[in-house]
Amino acid sequence: MPEGHTIHRHARLHRRHLGGREVAVSSPQGRFARGAARLDGRRLENVDAHGKNLFYRWEGGDILHVHLGLVGKFRTHHGDPPPPTPGTRLAMQADGTTVYLAGPMTCELIDPIREEELRDRLGPDPLRADGSGAFAANLGRRAIGVGAALLDQSVVAGIGNVYRAEVLFLEGIHPDVPARSLRGEQVTALWRRLVAELRRGERSGRIVTVEPADVGARRRSALGRGERLYVYKRAGEPCRRCGTAVARWELAGRKIWACPACQPA
Ligand SMILES: [Zn+2]
Repeated sequence: MPEGHTIHRHARLHRRHLGGREVAVSSPQGRFARGAARLDGRRLENVDAHGKNLFYRWEGGDILHVHLGLVGKFRTHHGDPPPPTPGTRLAMQADGTTVYLAGPMTCELIDPIREEELRDRLGPDPLRADGSGAFAANLGRRAIGVGAALLDQSVVAGIGNVYRAEVLFLEGIHPDVPARSLRGEQVTALWRRLVAELRRGERSGRIVTVEPADVGARRRSALGRGERLYVYKRAGEPCRRCGTAVARWELAGRKIWACPACQPA
């Protein structure tokens, strides 16, 4: 599932290529035909992201809410686009840029009241205005492991399975430590880490958490495919910092990875 950095990147690029323009909107698959007909030819005023949710604001007040879910995907074409695949729920086109959306969990028109309801259920988003206070308060109310809490979108919005494993490694925190037992400075450091990592991911479009020196490289851009993460999907392999075998288990229904030595329980 795409994590928050991908969603914010989509928002930024769609704002750049489609924002401020009258957009041709259609639903090649047909499942969003009525919504598309309502938006077709209208001006897209803004695109906003909160966690894994996208909100497209249109002239006239309609809001298009998109959540990619597990398999949803955007494809962007500049110049002549290929024909849409049969599963394309939404096509948006303006000024030579075409955006296709296939397989989303949600693609619906909503009003501002519904948007507020959706947002009320979301925790702070590290890529939006500072939410460190709300993050600390939310963790303080959870007895579950911090690894489980990070995936709860009402605690913090936009974190998925890769970032949760990687930021806990980077902060030396074991995923099973109860969220509410973290010390204040640990919570502050964890929030700052989330902000820094997601910002970098948003800019580059991929998740690279490894400090180049830890794998003998000089620059992040020089890291190979198998060198970009510390623990995610590295069960049994040596920790990049201490050599201990990376452990894997289930937490909150998803697999989690950690170094037993760098992240003591
Ligand atoms: Zn280690």
